[in-house]
Amino acid sequence: MSGSLLVDNIGELVTNGAGEGPLGIRRNAAVLVEEGRVVWVGPSAYAPAADHHVDAGGAAVLPGFVDSHAHLVFAGDRAAEFAARMAGEPYTGGGIRTTVGATRAATDEELRATVRRLRGEALRQGTTTMEIKSGYGLTVADEARSLRIAAETSTETTFLGAHVVPAEYADRPDDYVGLVCGPMLAAAAPYAKWIDVFCEQGAFDVDHARAILACGQAAGLGVRLHANQLGPGPGVQLGVELDAASVDHCTHLSDADVAALADTARGDGPGTRTVATLLPGAEFSTRSPYPDARRLLDAGVTVALATDCNPGSSYTSSMPFCVALAVREMRMTPAEAIWAATAGGARALRRDDIGVLTPGARADLVVLDAPSYLHLAYRPGVPLIRQVIRNGVPQ
Ligand SMILES: [Zn+2]
Repeated sequence: MSGSLLVDNIGELVTNGAGEGPLGIRRNAAVLVEEGRVVWVGPSAYAPAADHHVDAGGAAVLPGFVDSHAHLVFAGDRAAEFAARMAGEPYTGGGIRTTVGATRAATDEELRATVRRLRGEALRQGTTTMEIKSGYGLTVADEARSLRIAAETSTETTFLGAHVVPAEYADRPDDYVGLVCGPMLAAAAPYAKWIDVFCEQGAFDVDHARAILACGQAAGLGVRLHANQLGPGPGVQLGVELDAASVDHCTHLSDADVAALADTARGDGPGTRTVATLLPGAEFSTRSPYPDARRLLDAGVTVALATDCNPGSSYTSSMPFCVALAVREMRMTPAEAIWAATAGGARALRRDDIGVLTPGARADLVVLDAPSYLHLAYRPGVPLIRQVIRNGVPQ
């Protein structure tokens, strides 16, 4: 779309910048967009003229959701495993290997179609930035093609060759770590911005995780990791040690883990803050206890919310659902949850151009079918996303 775009008659604008309260709210506001960027925010009555016009009709507008944790490159589904779990079987993470088998057998076009379908689902629910991980290929060729396909859809791509040790390496995990750090990383790195490890009992121990993340850093990738999901462990401390942008899950934390994350949040500037990304869809779908968001927030930790969209432990692409869970089940206030799902996600990706609606930011806006952001938690399960504007373009 060429020319400027004015979104006006916004009853409640969440800017995550200057304004009322922690969300920087402005009332009766308008946003002017040029060349994919926000160039002006102010009172609707004083809005400048523009080539194109969206009338919000008094509704709420917020920054597009930033989903900083998603696994979209896979084949098949695990509905039967979900049913078994709901009938009482525990979640162990072992089902990942089922998806690995299906993914290796799939064609590029099949994988691409799944990524597009899930990305489209998420966009219709207000997600304008979505991180995409590999991790269901676990061979040099399958990890490289997973990331090549992911990179067609997102610039936020993550190499997760260390998701689980594949069956063929079950009795020689050291060899698999060598493969991940060597030829697999070399093939994946051209398509990846980040490196991630599932640091958990039954996946990768702390020494393997440290070695893999260090190799990724040496190849120019940023660090993020799956940590402390299924039990207590050293993952969060490792993330802080390696200046991870985010440690994800954080369901089982010690006081020292919380203190280490809070220490990073008190530092200044990029490279000093490790975000705790909470993924309540996983606890919902595995019927597990939720992370203690209040403990993190009250300690001053920067918290993000993401979907963890994947076919095993959290097959949702819906950020509004995660916001509702965070408020109802994790005792976050609606404002904290909305911030975590927008600006928090941006911090987890070390981005300052998204998750906010201030001049200079990318023009990613969500127009709700509601007068306030509060309705996203207050009216769970209701399709409240009226319109999505991404990069200044109405979708
Ligand atoms: Zn995950």
